[in-house]
Amino acid sequence: MSKTIKKIAVLTSGGDSPGMNAAIRSVVRTCAFLDVECLAVYRGYQGMIEGDFVPMNARSVNNIINKGGTILKSARCEEFRTPEGRAQAHQQLVNAGIDGFVVIGGDGSFRGATIFNKEYDFPVMGIPGTIDNDIFGTRFTLGFDTALNTVVEAIDKIRDTASSHNRLFFIEVMGRDVGHIALNAGVAAGAEEILIPEENLGLERLLDSLKRSKKSGKSSSIVIVAEGDKTGKNVFELKEYVEEHLPIYDVRVSVLGHMQRGGCPTAYDRVLASRMGVVAVEALLSGKTNLMVGIIDNEMTLTPIEEAIKGHTKIDRELIRVSDIMTV
Ligand code: ADP
Repeated sequence: MSKTIKKIAVLTSGGDSPGMNAAIRSVVRTCAFLDVECLAVYRGYQGMIEGDFVPMNARSVNNIINKGGTILKSARCEEFRTPEGRAQAHQQLVNAGIDGFVVIGGDGSFRGATIFNKEYDFPVMGIPGTIDNDIFGTRFTLGFDTALNTVVEAIDKIRDTASSHNRLFFIEVMGRDVGHIALNAGVAAGAEEILIPEENLGLERLLDSLKRSKKSGKSSSIVIVAEGDKTGKNVFELKEYVEEHLPIYDVRVSVLGHMQRGGCPTAYDRVLASRMGVVAVEALLSGKTNLMVGIIDNEMTLTPIEEAIKGHTKIDRELIRVSDIMTV
């Protein structure tokens, strides 16, 4: 029989993403609603090891649903990767009377949580918070929608200057292993080409496409490059390559960088975070553990964390077809 859960901890860990605050708020308020004590852990697993805990009540999370980043701070913690570090974290949780925790983070944070769960039979629940949308078991991770909208807004602005000067822009967006941001932003912002890690179409195709584009009467072009794309060239090398082979183009590069991680969460991310927090707390209270909350076909789901960290969500191949048609 699983132990009754009377006190839940919540933490944010790894890379931050917009919507994490809305998820913290949801976990805290669901605990308050269900009369369960809630503690916040500051600075991810590092704060857990150091016992950096603060009691939370429904009012502790006023006015944070609209804020980017995480009020609990996030951290990367090497010590938690060691059995000694995790033993210390466990002792701190036991000392504080905590019966289970909700970790909001990416696959690394989940890997830590599942190892901890196995070692100490400690109830854990994951909420996927990462802009890359690269976690298996959910159609959307928290922050993806916000980052996508941020990127589209930035590309729209770059398009204004690209068209004023008849320029070709290579715009690098985040996405180390997956091209969700690049592909969706590329379609939404009307890019000529989208280079993603899942599909290496080769440099020849890029040149052909740019030539065709010029021939068809377009005077400026935008190419979106996911940071993990597999052409074998980084975005600056791509610029040089195209300038060398297509001197007709005046090429510029823009790397969007960390601005993609910040900003107020979109309505979609706020709603998703609110739903995920409720499910995470309810699942823990019903004796479930070692699961990640997700959303599939607009239904809330629970996937074993071990499965969630094994794979990535596949990109939507239909979007590649749509993009090809749109760039006729
Ligand atoms: P993210 O959660 O965004 O993927 P990281 O990969 O940096 O970010 O992971 C966040 C933290 O999770 C790490 O700093 C570490 O404390 C913990 N962690 C990651 N992988 C492991 C692991 N294999 N064992 C134990 N803890 C881990």
